[in-house]
Amino acid sequence: MSIKIKQWILNMPEYIPGRTIEEIKKEYNLKVVYKLASNESLFGPDPGVLKEIGRNLGNINYYPDGNCIEIREKLGERLNINIKSIIIGNGTDQIIEMICDSFIEPGDNIIISDPTFLIYEKSALKCNGKVLKVPLKRFHQDMERLVGCIDNKTKVLFLTNPHNPTGSNINSTEFGYMMENINKNILVVVDEAYVDYLDEEDRIDTVSYISEYDNLVILRTFSKIYGLAGLRIGYGISDGVIISALNKVRLPFNVNFIAQRAAIKALEDESYIDKIRGRIKEEKNRYYKVLNENRIGYIKSYANFILIETGKESDVIIEKLLRGGFIVRPGKNLGLPGHIRVTMGLPDINKMFLKKFLEIFKDAYSK
Ligand SMILES: *Cc1c(COP(=O)(O)O)cnc(C)c1O
Repeated sequence: MSIKIKQWILNMPEYIPGRTIEEIKKEYNLKVVYKLASNESLFGPDPGVLKEIGRNLGNINYYPDGNCIEIREKLGERLNINIKSIIIGNGTDQIIEMICDSFIEPGDNIIISDPTFLIYEKSALKCNGKVLKVPLKRFHQDMERLVGCIDNKTKVLFLTNPHNPTGSNINSTEFGYMMENINKNILVVVDEAYVDYLDEEDRIDTVSYISEYDNLVILRTFSKIYGLAGLRIGYGISDGVIISALNKVRLPFNVNFIAQRAAIKALEDESYIDKIRGRIKEEKNRYYKVLNENRIGYIKSYANFILIETGKESDVIIEKLLRGGFIVRPGKNLGLPGHIRVTMGLPDINKMFLKKFLEIFKDAYSK
């Protein structure tokens, strides 16, 4: 091969996605497999949204609205911000990518927690940027060290709140500390993919910071509580100047027509979202109860998944769970060996999972 690939692209690590249901069915010869590995919503989208998707299938021969005007207007109204401060992406992932494309020059760095969502690192490395990692402090993002890590090559600092893969959260004091103590030439990105799972009193009103801080970007998604992960749509909120920079690197038709219609419909009636929030809370309590009763360690979660301590027998436990038809995310693949991350499923699935998990867990540590 005489084609030269950029050296920094060759150096990039490969992303290990969660295993698919079909893969596991084949490999273990199973009829039913439950995927509790990627924090998708097993409750699915609002039935009204599904209907709206059906109604719009006849129009997919047309290109979508490249500027996503309708959905930005809806969001602007709802969040009380100018639509110039909103950008829509093919998933939040794509906005993270646009941020690095717009702000990272070769040799610049981003600051992230370790571990965290992998896309931040991937997007920076793609731009030949460097990644400074700050270890979690008792499974929490360490705000002081994140700020302390900033050097003259730092361009972006990524926070995830609630945090993935631990499910921990930061409070408004910590967030305020961060914004006050960071020079305004550093972009602070707060990824709120799981914000909809928070109770009102645990939420930080990050949107209210946008008018005062032109170096803040808020990211949200329709992939989690809205149950639309397969359609790929998320949004970013920031100062208009930042958003216009992101628009420069954005491809013209980055968000497909069906995703736009579905998201617009989803925003019309949020009572469904409130319902799912309550259901997920009940499911987490179901897990906590069983884990507490059996003295199995876990991190209290502010999202729709729980990080469970499975110890040195984790590999065995994960393998046996697969054989039993349950896909969970190995902590090992997320930088937290000795743990598994389990997405909250539907009540019946969770009951079956907990029963199987206890059986396997006890067996693994009985010798
Ligand atoms: C799931 C998730 C997202 C959402 O990504 P999409 O591209 O919108 O599907 C973003 N950030 C974190 C931390 C996530 O866990």
